[in-house]
Amino acid sequence: MTKITGNTKLLGIMGCPIEHSLSPVMHNAALAARALQRNQSDLDYVYLPLRIEPIHLESALLGMAAMEWQGFNVTIPHKQAILPYLKEISPLAQAVGAVNTVWQKHGAWVGTNTDVRGFLAPLQSLNILWNEVEACVLGSGGSARAVIAACAQLGCAVTHVVGRNRCKLEALQQGVADAGMQIQIHDWQSLNKLLPQMGLIVNTTPLGMHPHVNASPLDREAIALLPASAIVYDLIYTPRPTQLLTLAKQQGYITLDGLEMLIHQGAAAFEIWIGELPDVSVMRQAALEVLA
Ligand code: NAP
Repeated sequence: MTKITGNTKLLGIMGCPIEHSLSPVMHNAALAARALQRNQSDLDYVYLPLRIEPIHLESALLGMAAMEWQGFNVTIPHKQAILPYLKEISPLAQAVGAVNTVWQKHGAWVGTNTDVRGFLAPLQSLNILWNEVEACVLGSGGSARAVIAACAQLGCAVTHVVGRNRCKLEALQQGVADAGMQIQIHDWQSLNKLLPQMGLIVNTTPLGMHPHVNASPLDREAIALLPASAIVYDLIYTPRPTQLLTLAKQQGYITLDGLEMLIHQGAAAFEIWIGELPDVSVMRQAALEVLA
């Protein structure tokens, strides 16, 4: 447990709602582990949850600047809304169109996006020729855009996006094209025709997330259409595994859930604020204890 003193510096996560966030336990565990290794006064930080209603975003940012917060994470519904209040936005966050990590630079807020790095982390240990892989993103919301940017970084041959709202799909296609990325867009009815060519399929919809644990964006028959080498990646981490990953694993596919993405986006933010990477095994253990 971090010992809070008069010198303790402030970090946190702003969102609404915020009570289900695992970030406070992950970051405080990582900070405590680092402080144990070093002199506590070198690493005197605490990481707090901040429930901030959308109408209070601007005043919260002014107050946090006045109180000299060191940095913070940003989650739903502020990831896009915060953009106009930042003095600088990294090129990656501009490409994603959303910021999840903020820090102070010369008295002004600066933002980036570490979701892309988090998403890529569990894929990097796999030995795959990404330029031969077609990826399919299910859903066209906020996290879909981070996944699209990650697929572009991997160098995937084609990135397909499947969504239920044609207008949102077209807006997404235009938005990512403005950021220099290409996608092909499809409705859900076309999905079964795509599946036999897909090397990576990513669920970015909430289908299967607690409490709708029996839902899945693909049923058993649809999953069976994927090539044997396909990776099935679900951004959801409650429950673990989701129905999608249970069905995919039963059929022998490589499966990944969203926990590593969550841990590694947090680790990347920690590195920005503290100047060194945290022990990710400490963050994982802290998150797993809460999920259990
Ligand atoms: P979002 O912006 O609300 O996007 C969700 C997308 O799913 C939208 O395109 C939505 O379609 C679609 N969708 C919702 N219900 C659907 C249904 N019944 N059938 C088909 N499509 C449906 O949410 P998000 O921020 O991208 O988050 C999505 C999921 O990713 C959540 O489960 C979240 O917990 C998870 N996530 C995980 C991490 C991590 O670190 N592991 C990070 C971010 C997000 P419409 O646009 O038509 O509504």
